[in-house]
Amino acid sequence: MTNCIFCKIPQNENDSRIISKFKYCYVIKDEYPVSKGHLLIIPFHHTENWFTTSKEVHLEIIDILVHMKAKLDIEYKPQGYNIGMNCGEAAGQTVMHLHVHLIPRYAGDMENPKGGVRGVIPSKQKY
Ligand code: 5GP
Ligand code: ZN
Repeated sequence: MTNCIFCKIPQNENDSRIISKFKYCYVIKDEYPVSKGHLLIIPFHHTENWFTTSKEVHLEIIDILVHMKAKLDIEYKPQGYNIGMNCGEAAGQTVMHLHVHLIPRYAGDMENPKGGVRGVIPSKQKY
C-alpha cells in the first residue's frame, strides 16, 4: 500500500525506529507512547487487522509478545502490561494496517487502573 505508514517504515532498511525484525513482523516504539516502553508489533505485509491475516502471523505475534515482554521486564521493570488491538474505525483504529500494542504498566501510572482495557469505553472501565 503506497500511502500506508506501516508499509513504508520497513522499506527503509536502516530505519533506526525498528527495534527487531522477525519472519513476518517487525517491532517499533510507538511514536506517541502511552507509557515508557510502549511497543507496536506490525506485520511487513499490508493487512488491515487481526481478523484479515493468517494463522502463521498470529502465532508469530504471540511469540513476539512473549519475547518483547521479557526484554521490557529487564529494561523498564514494569509491574503489568496491557496488550491491545483496535480492529476497525469503530474500535478506534487510526492506522489501517494491523499492529498490536504492547503497553507496559507501572504502579501508580494512573489513579485507579481497575478495568484496564475496558477503558476503551471510559464510562464502562470500572465495574
Ligand atoms: P491505532 O490505530 O492503534 O488506534 O493507533 C495507531 C498507533 O500508532 C498510535 O498509538 C500512534 O501513536 C502510533 N503511530 C502513528 N503513526 C506512527 C508512526 O509514524 N510511527 C510510530 N512509531 N508510531 C506511530
Ligand atoms: Zn500497510
